[in-house]
Amino acid sequence: MSYLKFIIMGQKKMPKIAVVGRGVIGLTTAELLLDAGYQVHILAKDDLPYTSSMGAGAYWWPHKAYPPDLVARWSGFSYNRYRDIAKIPGSGINMHTHFRYCVKDDETRYALELTDKWSMIDQNDVDFKITEAFQCVVPLIDVPVYMPWLLSRVLEKGAELLVHELASISDVPVDYDIIINCSGLGAKTLVNDSSVFPIRGQIVRLERPEHINNSYRVVHEPPGLTLILPRSGDLLLGGTTSDSDFNTDPSDDDTQEIINRCARVLPELKNLKVLGSQAALRPGRETVRLEAEFLKNGKVLIHNYGHGGSGYTIGYGCANDVLEIVNGL
Ligand SMILES: Cc1cc2nc3c(=O)[nH]c(=O)nc-3n(C[C@H](O)[C@H](O)[C@H](O)COP(=O)(O)OP(=O)(O)OC[C@H]3O[C@@H](n4cnc5c(N)ncnc54)[C@H](O)[C@@H]3O)c2cc1C
Repeated sequence: MSYLKFIIMGQKKMPKIAVVGRGVIGLTTAELLLDAGYQVHILAKDDLPYTSSMGAGAYWWPHKAYPPDLVARWSGFSYNRYRDIAKIPGSGINMHTHFRYCVKDDETRYALELTDKWSMIDQNDVDFKITEAFQCVVPLIDVPVYMPWLLSRVLEKGAELLVHELASISDVPVDYDIIINCSGLGAKTLVNDSSVFPIRGQIVRLERPEHINNSYRVVHEPPGLTLILPRSGDLLLGGTTSDSDFNTDPSDDDTQEIINRCARVLPELKNLKVLGSQAALRPGRETVRLEAEFLKNGKVLIHNYGHGGSGYTIGYGCANDVLEIVNGL
């Protein structure tokens, strides 16, 4: 297959691209393709509130996404992109101060080197057994603001959104030259990938006092995800991670346990009003699937799914790799 496929009567014709999925991965991928001048339609079912992207925290830091070398490269690319987006008023991206308490062998410590202005801090500030601590500047993604902003940005750049549930990837209409599969957990059925699995995550939303402006993360034993993120409309506390658990009902026990854990970082959290709890499913996979498949009908299917707990952190880096594949066809 070559780019010649898209040459008609000696004139280059831009391929018509269908992006399947309008979570953060689909929209981010669509954006970079549009910026490069491609014609993009986004096909997705009408389930936005229940997607992984809408259930996320979120902030920039790799978590449960592999392999580490690619995740580091993708994270670095996305970090730089968010630094620019943060300058746009109303985007929902905020470069803010992040305090991180962890153990020396934390598997994602490499991410620290990718951040701005990092320095070591006192590891005894929190009531956990940890061995080092640092502060740095990372992008905070205010999901309820950022996702609608990103969708309107992509539509302004010329994408068309078609709300459409697909039973299989072969249901994508034949008039597209290239299909980009950004279906997250949906890839399990769309392309029969049995290696995709849910990683359930619950978060709690509290009323946010104005003076809490920084985020906090503790990586501790026994394993737990202790996270405090200040967003415009609330203070988000995390969280849980349980593999192969499809349950999206929030649990009262988890809610209480999350508040208790986070209060070991900021004791005042125990007295704040609880606004709600929600659970969603991260699209887990042994490694992110990012590769091209050449179909018998002459079309190209590019997979971009399985981002685990890092879709926001690595999304732009992955989208740029997809763009490079498309440019090379
Ligand atoms: C509690 C929690 C906290 C998180 N925190 C962070 C964080 O701090 N930082 C971070 O980087 N990441 C975080 N994540 C992970 C991040 O949210 C995911 O990696 C990311 O949202 C995955 O995006 P996606 O677009 O692949 O999937 P999704 O958002 O699930 O989107 C999938 C899209 O595919 C479409 N689709 C699927 N099947 C079909 C079908 N059959 N037909 C048509 N359309 C279909 C859906 O409609 C949807 O539009 C968190 C996730 C959770 C749950």
